[in-house]
Amino acid sequence: MRKLATRVLVLVFLASAFLALASDVAKADEPKAKNVILFIADGNGYNSDIMGSYWRTGEEFGLEYNKFPVKGASAHFMLHKHSDGTVEWDPEKEPEKNMGYVGEEFWKGPQGANWRPTNTQTTDSAASATAMNTGVKTLGGYVNISKTGEKLENFADKNYKAGRSVGVVTTAQISHATPAGASAHNESRGNYQQIGYEQIHDLPLTVLMGSGHPAFSNGKKVDKPADEWNYNFVGGRELWEKVSKNDGYHGWTFFDDRPDFAALAAKTPGSADLPKRVLGVVRTTGDVPPIDGDADNPDSMIERWGKETVDAIPSLTEMTVGALNVLSQNENGFYLMVEGGNIDHANHANNAANSVLEHAGFSKAIDAAIEWVEKYSSWDETIMIMTADHETGQIWGAGTYDDDNDDGKFKEKDDTFNEFMPVPATEKGKVPEVQYLSGSHTNALVPVYIKGVGAEKYYDFVRGTDEKAGEFWKFDGKFIFNSDIYNIMSAASGIK
Ligand SMILES: [Zn+2]
Repeated sequence: MRKLATRVLVLVFLASAFLALASDVAKADEPKAKNVILFIADGNGYNSDIMGSYWRTGEEFGLEYNKFPVKGASAHFMLHKHSDGTVEWDPEKEPEKNMGYVGEEFWKGPQGANWRPTNTQTTDSAASATAMNTGVKTLGGYVNISKTGEKLENFADKNYKAGRSVGVVTTAQISHATPAGASAHNESRGNYQQIGYEQIHDLPLTVLMGSGHPAFSNGKKVDKPADEWNYNFVGGRELWEKVSKNDGYHGWTFFDDRPDFAALAAKTPGSADLPKRVLGVVRTTGDVPPIDGDADNPDSMIERWGKETVDAIPSLTEMTVGALNVLSQNENGFYLMVEGGNIDHANHANNAANSVLEHAGFSKAIDAAIEWVEKYSSWDETIMIMTADHETGQIWGAGTYDDDNDDGKFKEKDDTFNEFMPVPATEKGKVPEVQYLSGSHTNALVPVYIKGVGAEKYYDFVRGTDEKAGEFWKFDGKFIFNSDIYNIMSAASGIK
């Protein structure tokens, strides 16, 4: 009896030792990103990104994030609703109907950038933000709503549940499509007031920063009485009046002037006087101008916008570092989404000079975040992803087409398409000579750069290879879907 008991004990001991070992192995495999930082450059395809790099560094891939260990690409198409109201999509089956990006189609010529199979189409920012924040492809304009109209739990929602903090920072309005996608839920991106209300009143966001200020335009007071201001982007007048008093409404610390953003950025994690929740509404109803867009000639930014604007408007860097300081108070970690929202707007307008300025503001914010991670956190507990939600403008190097009718626009019937030219090597501080083939969104692959714990999860989600894209933009040609950004963030952080 005793012998048997001993044997059983030995067996139990061995079994539990084995289990402990097995769970240690499992643990070692478990990703441990405590902090997830996602940078989205709206409308920034590979060539737009390269223009930004030449402008700031004089090199094709000279930016800090160009050195991240994972360099890839994302296909970002959204779902298509058929005229009978049905939405079908299954990427595992019939790729000719469901694969929204196919290299052979893309490289055929200018029309390839908007080629689409039966069940998908070129995305907008809301559907792309939804994909990146939920892992679910949906329809245009939907903000964390599924193709069948159900509310989707997004990465932010899952982070709150796990006791982590969430921050959303943008150079567009706080309730614009991309920041909305990182936080809110709405069947239409155009319902700004509802989205702003959800963000400020309902959600447990820790940081919310961006524009949409009712009372200012580019830092100057709007010359209208208060009942004619536009309160849409900040949840409506009643909510705005409550929260902008800064008397602790819903625990928010509210500010809107540049010195307050700068002061928050100048603090350090662990400072006793860090606010618990921050709503920073930049003093402009429209886009936040990139006041630091010209690296070598800051005075040109004053000439461009005037001192009053530059003094009132924070840089994206100031917003980002301030947000990181506030978020760092949560020992469990955080999710921060930062958007450079206006690269898209510059590319829609085919304005390369504005595009590189916006891009510089964006890439500088990443530099500052990298520095912050290395000083106050580490790559063993943080993952940082840089990507875009879609391409805008179909940008190629000069010489891609001959503008036969001299109208400054590409039309296949009026002009001669030559070949896809790379963005030409350009000195630092000069705008590269490019041609825009479109004023809209396209399917062109966008860059993905990842650094930190779990970065290699990228390779678990590869959906296809485009060798020509790989040759053109100097990576292995493997691409993911934008919905895999969620999958990577989830796998790296363990937040499901
Ligand atoms: Zn756009």
